[in-house]
Amino acid sequence: MLLEVRDLHVEFRTRDGVAKAVNGVSYGVDAGETLAVLGESGSGKSVTAQTIMGILDTPPGKVTGGQILFEGRDLLTLKEEERRKVRGAGMAMIFQDALSSLNPVLTVGDQLGEMFTVHRGMSRKDARAKAVELMDRVRIPGARERVRQYPHQFSGGMRQRIMIAMAIALEPRLVIADEPTTALDVTVQAQVMDLLAELRREYRMGLILITHDLGVVADVADRIAVMYAGRIVETAPVHDIYKAPAHPYTRGLLDSIPRLDQKGRQLYAIKGLPPSLTRIPPGCAFHPRCPMARDVCRTDVPPLYEVTDAPSERGSACHFWRECLHG
Ligand code: SF4
Ligand code: MG
Repeated sequence: MLLEVRDLHVEFRTRDGVAKAVNGVSYGVDAGETLAVLGESGSGKSVTAQTIMGILDTPPGKVTGGQILFEGRDLLTLKEEERRKVRGAGMAMIFQDALSSLNPVLTVGDQLGEMFTVHRGMSRKDARAKAVELMDRVRIPGARERVRQYPHQFSGGMRQRIMIAMAIALEPRLVIADEPTTALDVTVQAQVMDLLAELRREYRMGLILITHDLGVVADVADRIAVMYAGRIVETAPVHDIYKAPAHPYTRGLLDSIPRLDQKGRQLYAIKGLPPSLTRIPPGCAFHPRCPMARDVCRTDVPPLYEVTDAPSERGSACHFWRECLHG
């Protein structure tokens, strides 16, 4: 396994008390595989990613337990210098907002080129050639000329391609993309997703795709992990989850995807809001919003049950997963 997160716990100190942002999360991704991590904002998906990348704000954030194994080595116990080396050479991240991640006063050619002058000791001329090559690779038309332009001279979609070019420049084994297409319109979203999927195949990278939108991952992800209130509530191969979810929260997310064949129909929305992480409900954290909730749900935290009726490896943190799966 390229990356394996084991029983990760992350807390934040807030004015309202301790927020349990990540509460025992385990997931893994192999080389050449895409894992989609899905959830509403505040579910812990970004905090988990930031912890993997080593960009968690500490304090107020604090890792209180677990392991992050990258190529078998636990990043949380490595010495700082070693850890930085492993991360720098092995992983890269793509953020939602390219405009604020790129430097507005440097041309994109200089920014891309810097990856190679700083990290590979290349000459400026060679680095410039690599920058053009990369821009070609992420299919930015007219790369040779546009390499001299500044970030604001590109459209949102093209800027996101530049971010992707920066991320893959040093050929990392793992890329984490946090809501990479959320700011883009639907057609451009699909193009950027296709590009990511294609690069993942070509470079055999592991890809973790973080999103709140179940609609964008169907064609690109191999597996899905659905998060709610700091935990994984369902994990399964992507096609199985679309066919039959084994958790009421996943079912709610699926029912709220707009579908072409149901144009004009009122969309289903999960009632209520995710809980405050300083006051996570007892029992199943989803019970105040769950249409299937019963007494046991208000008292007993559901473990991640193995979904034994499924042909593939699946898990659901619902006491009544079987009913949900077949219902
Ligand atoms: Fe709903 Fe209960 Fe399952 Fe939680 S454990 S998702 S409240 S049925
Ligand atoms: Mg986020």
